[in-house]
Amino acid sequence: MAEGHILIVEDEEKIASLLKDYLEKSGYRASMLDRGDGVVSFVKNKAPDLILLDIMLPGMDGMEVCREIRKFSRVPIIMITAKVEEIDRLLGLELGADDYVCKPFSPREVVARVKAVLRRINPSTEESIISAGPFVLNEETHQATVDGRELKLTPSEFKLLKVMMSHQNRVFSRNDLVNLVQGYEFEGYDRTIDTHIKNLRKKIAAMLPENEIITSIYGEGYKFSVD
Ligand code: CA
Repeated sequence: MAEGHILIVEDEEKIASLLKDYLEKSGYRASMLDRGDGVVSFVKNKAPDLILLDIMLPGMDGMEVCREIRKFSRVPIIMITAKVEEIDRLLGLELGADDYVCKPFSPREVVARVKAVLRRINPSTEESIISAGPFVLNEETHQATVDGRELKLTPSEFKLLKVMMSHQNRVFSRNDLVNLVQGYEFEGYDRTIDTHIKNLRKKIAAMLPENEIITSIYGEGYKFSVD
């Protein structure tokens, strides 16, 4: 069975309930909102695992909601649009959505998209071993190795490395990392992240002195790459 809390933001009650039914049948927990203006506070308080977000909404439209969410969260977002022609335009806007579905859709297709996005965003839900180049992380034992040699990490360093390894070459801002690693209640403590990153880089450099694995990108954040 699938796991996760999905937020459905849709003002057409029939569509919202249909999606909720299908998601729940697949094992997800689903919440519904019928307006755009309550979404940001819902996401901050309840931290859903994925959002299905309609574009035409009372209160605040879905595009604006998506932009607002991206200011503080990387939660996967699947946008729902009424027109297939809209999708190209939406892609061009770089809203930061992870996928788009077009009305009318089959609920089954939407559930399949939800599964696919969650798998892509968080491959570790099904795999307890994550690897990239010489790095291997075992999520169950919390062991990390580099070329088979043990890399001793604190729990925060392990989480950071896991998140960055799962999205190689992506630049993570301090805020992204704080949210991903520590959750919203630690918002604002971004210097702690710098310290964790510094220690993590030091430990990696001790094992791989000739490669820069975690790069700091001035004014933007950090990225992991083994290329
Ligand atoms: Ca609508």
